[in-house]
Amino acid sequence: MSEKGMVFDIQRFSIHDGLGIRTLVFLKGCNLRCQWCFNPESQRFKPDLFFQPEKCIGCQACIKVCPQKAIIIKKSHIFFRRELCKNCGKCAEVCYAEARVIKGKEMSTDEVIKEVIKDNAFYSKTKGGITLGGGEPLQQSNFALSILKKCKENGLSTAIETSGYVPWENIESVIPYTDFFLYDIKHMDPKVHKQYIGVDNQLILLNLERLIKKAMIIIYTPIIPGFNNTETDINDIAQYVAKLGINELNLLPYQNYGRYKYNILGRDYPFKNDKIINEEEVEKLRLVALKQGLEVKIGG
Ligand code: SF4
Ligand code: SF4
Repeated sequence: MSEKGMVFDIQRFSIHDGLGIRTLVFLKGCNLRCQWCFNPESQRFKPDLFFQPEKCIGCQACIKVCPQKAIIIKKSHIFFRRELCKNCGKCAEVCYAEARVIKGKEMSTDEVIKEVIKDNAFYSKTKGGITLGGGEPLQQSNFALSILKKCKENGLSTAIETSGYVPWENIESVIPYTDFFLYDIKHMDPKVHKQYIGVDNQLILLNLERLIKKAMIIIYTPIIPGFNNTETDINDIAQYVAKLGINELNLLPYQNYGRYKYNILGRDYPFKNDKIINEEEVEKLRLVALKQGLEVKIGG
């Protein structure tokens, strides 16, 4: 029987998440809580409702189907009582304006593969394939494993984006079916890591040190203002990565996409230091990492 799991998005034609043209399959659920998270809809293991009132055309279809009476009409205005919402998705099914969209859907491995192989022709021309992302895809390690196995049966290139914050067994099980890992290192100081992310970095570094002996790894480091955007922070990461014998470091400058998404999820954006990092600053940090002998890319 085909394994099942929770997927919150499938994006085709990506060129930023590994070699060639790739299809990104985002699995839902993550145990980290990075304050700046770009995909807060990925954090919970269950579906979440995006509500964008500016798209609403006032058809009232959602009011009729909501079993929780979370959407009401008062003095000709539609009100959404988010606190009553159970994220069942019934309103999204009837909202043709897409003001209401449910993020998170149970899919089988076969359903995922059916989507992924649509772009087979592009993969073979560009050495592309599939990248599993999240959330943390290895939190659903059986599902991830079954997708990767099927991809290999179909001759596809496979990659995983991981925070590394999972039991080692979850990583180990997928190694034979994964061509490369895009592995996040966000900070070398365990206390700062815990303050901004909710957990320290011990397990993440330990898993990386085990994985390096068995797989190809590219490091991804988001540059986050007030968290790790100093030359010392980036130098510490680059030095550690170079010592492990890893060649490539990708620096991803902070973008505040997360702010809007938190808003349409009905949640407060927890990151207070919300400022864009300019090109000059990024270049300075790139040069710092370069001095450690790494191939440094900006933006993946
Ligand atoms: S179904 Fe969508 S467009 Fe219609 S009232 Fe509800 S939110 Fe607005
Ligand atoms: S997701 Fe379900 S409970 Fe929430 S508003 Fe829509 S229909 Fe109501």
